[in-house]
Amino acid sequence: MTNAKMLARRIAITGGLEIANLLRATGLMRGARGRGAIFTLHHVRPHEASAFSPNAHLEITPEFLDAALTQLKSDGYRFVSLAEIPALLAEPATKQPFAAFTLDDGYRNNLVYAMPVFDRHEAPFTIFVAKGLVERTHTIWWETLATLLRKEDRLSFDFGDGIEAISVATPAEKHRAFARFAAHIHSKNETAAVLEIDTLARAHGIDPVEIVEDLVMGAPELNLLDASPLAALGAHTVSHRAVARLSDAEVRDEMSVSSDYVEAISGRRPRTFAYPYGTREAVTQQQAAIARDFGFAIAVTTQPGVVGERALDNATYLPRLSINGLYQKTRYLSGLASGIPLKLMGNRA
Ligand SMILES: [Zn+2]
Repeated sequence: MTNAKMLARRIAITGGLEIANLLRATGLMRGARGRGAIFTLHHVRPHEASAFSPNAHLEITPEFLDAALTQLKSDGYRFVSLAEIPALLAEPATKQPFAAFTLDDGYRNNLVYAMPVFDRHEAPFTIFVAKGLVERTHTIWWETLATLLRKEDRLSFDFGDGIEAISVATPAEKHRAFARFAAHIHSKNETAAVLEIDTLARAHGIDPVEIVEDLVMGAPELNLLDASPLAALGAHTVSHRAVARLSDAEVRDEMSVSSDYVEAISGRRPRTFAYPYGTREAVTQQQAAIARDFGFAIAVTTQPGVVGERALDNATYLPRLSINGLYQKTRYLSGLASGIPLKLMGNRA
């Protein structure tokens, strides 16, 4: 066997262990496992080595997904669609926990790499699409920044105290700068901050819209994907902004316009919604109430947790578990077989 093949096999095996650890870490293996779990994924694609990968936690390989599904199945999980969960919770508890899979942002690799794996395991999945990304009217600042910082050694930017020159030559400097830009996005008017980053990228020869076209499925691909009986589409706003920083009217508008859009593609009104970023800072009970009033049966955050017996009481603020690429990658790079404790972390996207 070649080294690459051995590594790939090792990743597949540790992928399964990772899921087992994840479940154990959240109490799923003990009495307090709840009724089931909703898993979050973003990119599913082959690994590409890079010295600077600030979004590494948002991607896993198809082999890792395959190992994860195999592990869950052998642990007795029943694969269900997200939209089924309210009905399942209304029934008396069974011994068999459920697992639902969700993929945020509608990346093309979901169709190319993830769908065949879900097909093989007969696992339903929901893709949360943001209208602005599908229509290329909005950009993905964290991908734009990754491209920009990978390319440049020096940048000039106004974080609020006037234009400053920053060195972004080393991976450490690039990570530091990435964190500052992310904080900038989340500290002010998100629309304005994204525009500033897009303008900076364009000044360095990077087209942020091209990045979206490259990464995100268009309406015809979503339509193709939706034809699979295992696939469902959910809404993920239009602009992919943190809803906690929008007015209630803006939140309702984001939910309404993105739902109309999903309905136009799939022919069905989406009953599920995912909050962009999904952290405690990005969405609160105030927006969860709006989602409930709007009529979503389920809305999901990225705050870690399992789906408990009383989840229906707060069905528009459900936690999810991230199938996280960071540890997989750590292992890939270091070649360690096992022994790295798994840590839960929130998702940026
Ligand atoms: Zn997202």
